Parts: sequence; C-alpha cells; structure tokens
Amino acid sequence: MRMIFIGPPGAGKGTQAARLVERLAIPHISTGDMFRAAVKAGTPLGKQAKACMDKGELVPDEVTIGLVKERIAQADAQEGFMLDGFPRTLPQAEALDEALDQPLDAVVLLEVPDDLIVERIVGRRSDPETGAIYHLKFNPPPAEVMGRLKHRADDTEEACRNRLGVYHGQTAPIIPFYEGKGLVKRVDGVGSADEVTERIRAALGR
Ligand code: AMP
Repeated sequence: MRMIFIGPPGAGKGTQAARLVERLAIPHISTGDMFRAAVKAGTPLGKQAKACMDKGELVPDEVTIGLVKERIAQADAQEGFMLDGFPRTLPQAEALDEALDQPLDAVVLLEVPDDLIVERIVGRRSDPETGAIYHLKFNPPPAEVMGRLKHRADDTEEACRNRLGVYHGQTAPIIPFYEGKGLVKRVDGVGSADEVTERIRAALGR
C-alpha cells in the first residue's frame, strides 16, 4: 500500500496517519516531523527549515524532494508507505511519480472547511514523550500530561492563516493532478477522530 494524505493544516492528517499505519503495517513518513526533528537536532537542514516553518511557508522543493527520495529508498518503505504532508506542490508530486517504480495506490484528501481550521490549529498541543496529538477543547489531554505538552511554533493564528493560503495556492493544484490518475478519495474530516478513521477505512476498503 503506497498512499498519501492531503489536506489543509489541522485537517487531522498526522492523527489519522498514526492511527492507520499500525493496521496497514507500513511506515508513517511525515515531512513535517522530519523537519521538526532536524530543527531539534540543530542540523543545517533544520536551520534552513526553521526559518520557513515559523512563518508558515514551505521549505524549498529541492530540499524537501531530496529528503523524501532518500527516505522512501530505505528498506522499510519498499513494501509501502504512508506519506503525510508530502507532496505539497506540483513539482513535488511530479518528482514523487518519477521516483517510484510502482504507482501510488491511493490519495486520501481530508476535507475540513477553512473556518474550522484556525480553531483546530490554535488549540492543538502535542506530547513530546508519546507523540500523541491533543486539542485543548476537542480532544482534551489527561491532566497528568498537561504540564509537558508542547505548542508548535507554527500553530499560531498568524502562521496558520499563512499556511492556509499556501495550501490553497500551492498544494490544492495537486488534487486535479491525482484526480486525473483516478486516485483521489475524498473524506469528510469533520467529526471525531474515530468517525474520521472509519470513513478513511471505508474509502480505502481496509
Ligand atoms: P506539517 O507538520 O505537515 O504541518 O508541516 C509543518 C511545516 O513543515 C510546513 O508548514 C512547512 O513549513 C514544512 N513542510 C512540511 N512538509 C513540507 C513539504 N512537503 N514541502 C515543503 N515544506 C514542508
């Protein structure tokens, strides 16, 4: 199973990918997580990525494409993978096509209206120890983890509005690209995480 998740920031891509990979037994490859790890490690890639990420802009295509090509060439990705947050531009989608020796099986498009996105993003918190993603109102964290939760630097209202603009301007054009290949499965991303997981399973037939 070679699949990708597309959707605006805060659509639930990361949450849903983490729920599905175990069942599908494929690696979850999140470019956002890879960039955040590089920022934390203070590598040259991390320094370059941080400047773009904090503003809600995209990391340049050549950097991102190189990173993903390297990752999907690794042994654990040969039987399949779930890409979360990549591709985000048409050149990235084309480069992925060229890099794969077998075609993608599915593109899941998680749809959430813009007016829900800002509230979802601004209340989002993650647990650095377990990687779990919570929302202060919609998916409240247990009291015992509250003290260690992190708020992403790009989960502010301003950066979020930029990221939404980038999504509509640069990422949305990849939807017709994949629609032309008959791969897109549109899934309503509004509802509880369990409801959305069920919809994705039904759409994938797994
Ligand atoms: P995410 O965790 O997927 O929301 O990604 C966080 C940030 O990482 C984005 O706002 C971008 O700055 C950067 N990023 C992640 N994936 C990509 C990508 N495919 N292309 C360019 N930048 C990316």
